Amino acid sequence: MSAPDVQADERPYWQTRPCPTWCSSGHARDESIADALHMSHDFFEIVATTEPPICDTYAGERYVEAQAFDVSLSQYELEREPRVWLGLNQTSTGLKLTLGEASALADALRKLVDAAEATS
Ligand SMILES: [Zn+2]
Repeated sequence: MSAPDVQADERPYWQTRPCPTWCSSGHARDESIADALHMSHDFFEIVATTEPPICDTYAGERYVEAQAFDVSLSQYELEREPRVWLGLNQTSTGLKLTLGEASALADALRKLVDAAEATS
């Protein structure tokens, strides 16, 4: 899904070209360029089934939640290229990876999974 095609006179002052095709953010006309963040519509959550769950209490209620990675794409308008966010449990804990780093990580994971599946 891509951002709707916004007419040039409806765009924020800083936006001289359409959003990246993967951006699903709406950008307010008064949004500053320093805060302008393109966000992907695609958001992947991978539950870590072998990790212990998070057990906590919120507003007097006890909850148990599986740990999970969250992966998405974002780019500030002033950044050169998008970053892949590899987060943990939908918190601010995680890593921003360049496209090259994300690609290297994907390759490494693929090789490890292939090796494990070949021997199982
Ligand atoms: Zn955008």
